[in-house]
Amino acid sequence: MDSTPIPHDAACPGCEVPDLAFSDHDHADCARDALSRAEALMLARGVRLTPVRKRVLQILLEAHQALGAYDVLNRLAAEGFGNQPPVAYRALDFLEEQGLVHRIRRLNAFAACMHPGEAHAPVFLICTGCQLVAEAPGAAVGVALDQAAGNLGFTIERATVEAMGLCPACGAAA
Ligand SMILES: [Zn+2]
Ligand SMILES: [Zn+2]
Ligand SMILES: [Zn+2]
Repeated sequence: MDSTPIPHDAACPGCEVPDLAFSDHDHADCARDALSRAEALMLARGVRLTPVRKRVLQILLEAHQALGAYDVLNRLAAEGFGNQPPVAYRALDFLEEQGLVHRIRRLNAFAACMHPGEAHAPVFLICTGCQLVAEAPGAAVGVALDQAAGNLGFTIERATVEAMGLCPACGAAA
């Protein structure tokens, strides 16, 4: 296990480190960072990242894209983890509970969290051209939502903001 601490901006709440999904970057490095942060977090929480849980996280970390539970299951089955849907669902549920993956409701799919362990309520930016998913800081959006709801006497318990559109590369190609 790579236990090198990951360089991450200390002033991180809500994450000030820009999500790399839409930029040219060394993704192998990026995925390794996210995985080792997730592993450190599980260790600190005393929770076991079993082989199947870890493998599901790695599969989701292969790209800044969301995958459906069946895509994950097919990969697991091809790798000899068994082909029973609960295997994939349980691992995805666990990873979501631990904040290591996000459920992207609009796509009925899951994406690896690129800021595991940080308290954050991201806004998801989903490219309809290439299916990349990026997390943008959502604190300001949350404040605006609370305000809009508060004006109607409504208390928000849970809100997920998912925006569909074009990433810089797909936008430039359009
Ligand atoms: Zn990356
Ligand atoms: Zn996240
Ligand atoms: Zn795109």
